[in-house]
Amino acid sequence: MKNFKTAVLENKEVAKNIFKIKFKAEQFVNEVKPGQFIEVLCAGESAPFLRRPFGIHGIDKKSGTSEILIKKLGRGTEILSFLKKGDALDIVGPLGNGFELTNAKTHFVAGGGMGIAPLLFLARELKNQNKNLKIFLAARSAGELPCVEEFRKLGEVIISTDDGSLGEKCLINTPLERALKTIKDAAVYACGPHAMLRCIAELGVKYKAKTQVSLEEKMACGFGVCQGCAVEVKNKDTKYKMVCKDGPVFNAEDIAWP
Ligand SMILES: Cc1cc2nc3c(=O)[nH]c(=O)nc-3n(C[C@H](O)[C@H](O)[C@H](O)COP(=O)(O)OP(=O)(O)OC[C@H]3O[C@@H](n4cnc5c(N)ncnc54)[C@H](O)[C@@H]3O)c2cc1C
Repeated sequence: MKNFKTAVLENKEVAKNIFKIKFKAEQFVNEVKPGQFIEVLCAGESAPFLRRPFGIHGIDKKSGTSEILIKKLGRGTEILSFLKKGDALDIVGPLGNGFELTNAKTHFVAGGGMGIAPLLFLARELKNQNKNLKIFLAARSAGELPCVEEFRKLGEVIISTDDGSLGEKCLINTPLERALKTIKDAAVYACGPHAMLRCIAELGVKYKAKTQVSLEEKMACGFGVCQGCAVEVKNKDTKYKMVCKDGPVFNAEDIAWP
């Protein structure tokens, strides 16, 4: 884990209120794993005191650059949405554990809403390792679904939206379950809202697919000191684990889903 200041190279709105920020990151491009995240200081007048966590969306080892994909929600992300080329970015990271790339025959990557953000990096890594890949993307509507074309370069993409404006009008678990029924020896990697992850965890158990979920909890420090991001686990030694330090990626079966 490092704390460093770097420069924004590009900041583009890629979907409604969703911004892709590219920045110099020689400090970590060679060590960062898919699923890890960074804590970003949202500097500016009346900026929030606490850093905000974002999954690593992309890295380019050759140019020593990285990207995050952020959705404008509150004050912190609003400040980040205004960043311009050359502005400074104060980062702590890489943080957390990241996904474990398994030896399954087929790899199902499932992202809902902004849970899509860290999965492009993961899908690229799986593709680099010549893994057989199926990608499930879901959002409320087509306008809230960024990066579809980038994912299509990596494998088959199955889209579902709540309003049916793109792909199938259903929740992500419908096409995922169809695929799990027919394809044996699959691993699932998922990121998105808790309710979605809980359903995917149940599917993982039902179809005996190793399922990893990347959880989001509000967090402050990002490295296990403040204990703000505790999540209840099924573990005989400890009742809680920290999303920032022990996660954000967990085996779905280890979580005591509420
Ligand atoms: C490990 C991790 C990785 C993340 N990766 C990404 C990412 O890649 N891209 C991205 O856009 N976001 C990501 N998030 C969520 C992101 O950190 C929050 O959206 C951000 O902190 C909001 O800051 P803010 O100051 O703009 O909003 P705040 O003023 O803090 O909050 C504004 C509103 O958003 C709600 N909110 C805050 N945090 C979250 C959250 N985690 N989930 C749902 N609602 C929330 C608040 O309840 C409030 O209603 C991640 C979170 C975690 C824990």
